[in-house]
Amino acid sequence: MEYRNWIDGEWVEPSGERTLPNVNPADTRDVLGTLRLSSREDVRRAVAGAKRAFPAWRRTPAPERARVVARAQKILEAQADELARLLTREEGKVLAEARGEVAKTINVLEFMAGEGYRMGGITRPSVLPSNFCYTVRQPLGVVGLITPWNFPVCIPAWKIAPALIAGNTIVFKPSELTPATAEVVVRAFIEAGCPAGVLQLVHGDAEAGDEIVRHPEIPAISFTGSNEVGRSIYETAAGMLKKVQCEMGGKNPIVVLEDADLELAAAGAAKGAFGSTGQRCTATSRAIVHEAVADRFVELVAEHARRIVPGNGLQEGVTMGPSVDREQFDKVLSYIEIGKQEGATLVLGGSRAEGEGLEHGYFPAPTIFDHVRPGMRIAREEIFGPVLSVIRVRDLDEAIEIANDVEYGLTSSLYTRDPNRWFRFVDEIETGITHLNSPTPGGESQMPFGGVKATGVGAREMGDTAIDFFTELKAVYVDYTGAKRESNVY
Ligand code: NAD
Repeated sequence: MEYRNWIDGEWVEPSGERTLPNVNPADTRDVLGTLRLSSREDVRRAVAGAKRAFPAWRRTPAPERARVVARAQKILEAQADELARLLTREEGKVLAEARGEVAKTINVLEFMAGEGYRMGGITRPSVLPSNFCYTVRQPLGVVGLITPWNFPVCIPAWKIAPALIAGNTIVFKPSELTPATAEVVVRAFIEAGCPAGVLQLVHGDAEAGDEIVRHPEIPAISFTGSNEVGRSIYETAAGMLKKVQCEMGGKNPIVVLEDADLELAAAGAAKGAFGSTGQRCTATSRAIVHEAVADRFVELVAEHARRIVPGNGLQEGVTMGPSVDREQFDKVLSYIEIGKQEGATLVLGGSRAEGEGLEHGYFPAPTIFDHVRPGMRIAREEIFGPVLSVIRVRDLDEAIEIANDVEYGLTSSLYTRDPNRWFRFVDEIETGITHLNSPTPGGESQMPFGGVKATGVGAREMGDTAIDFFTELKAVYVDYTGAKRESNVY
């Protein structure tokens, strides 16, 4: 299989010099295809096409634009199982997780399609007689969407849908690690009737991404990915006065107090830490646990972790997939070494996972470190692997202080039976999302999604807020007196 760009209503081969194999990370002997990377010129052609398509698309009524999204939802729904299997083969997450991602994508499109009717503004009384004021939302123009590999179906969908409904045309660059699933998503929008030029797909890596970020005809960039890349995109784009939305890494804590249902907390921590091989921006990477219950909590999480079956996610009984590629796998193993050197207590794992067939893939073992101190690198830096750091604390105050003492702020959760402490936690925790008595991952399509501090800049994604980033508000003043204005108060 070779992957193609979708530009101006045609599938065309990328024109870059470099190619990458698209490899199943659970079994590197399984090669899905070859990706030729796009050149800067490919991006420029895509931008030119999107620019030509913009005037007609912005004049198309929003409910009609949204119908494309509604139809794309139905198309993806009809292919859900096939798409989930492709996702498992390309990215590695196990089939149940892949099905979950596809189901979430369908929810996102379903919710978003209604925005075609809801995309409104406000009206306000004027300070002047026979005047009124209102706002309208208008599209930005050609928007650049740059996405990561870890949710290669859902994240593109949650950016493309609001961008389209808002009346923008799009240059979309998926991760170079997941071109096949990106193509399926784009095909659904094409089949749904997205006109030529309105949604342009450009496969590529940093070179194509950089061209999108620097292109003067793209006034807005929506990026999801690592902090390192997001920061540089933000700097470059802000220097050009572009509108920028970056959703980046996390170091998400679960806080477990002494009155918590420990079985529930341990199950939540295990799901959050080891689910999707820890490769979720919302993964649980720190468990901040009251010292009175920490021993028992660690024992219970370890029991869950021991039951995990790593392997090819298409096989029955497998419960954890691989790291997405060699680089990510090496990164996880190197953080495990850092944890050992920093003096944390290794409870479980601590190396690559061993077992029949695992030698062909990138499988780190589920790993738990106990007695982690808040200053250690494994307690502060995003690992993006199945590694949980347990930090012991004396009370809620100390837990909140440690939870907040990292640069990231995506999600968090608290396990307690005490509503007073829950509400205090909500007041004080520095994350864009928080959960009570449920794991850190998860975000529903009708709710805003995003983080604070170094995790996120720009408007929230998903929910009603998704439209905010992709529109500008215009304030309109209407004077129906028909008379010359005397007042100076306006
Ligand atoms: P990444 O930053 O390496 O790549 C993301 C995208 O940016 C890819 O499409 C890549 O090709 C592109 N890119 C790379 N260099 C670029 C450059 N110089 N200019 C423009 N584009 C460039 O991230 P990744 O490894 O694909 O994804 C994992 C990261 O994504 C993790 O840090 C994770 O926490 C984060 N993430 C965040 C959220 C969120 O909503 N907060 C959601 C999912 C993933």
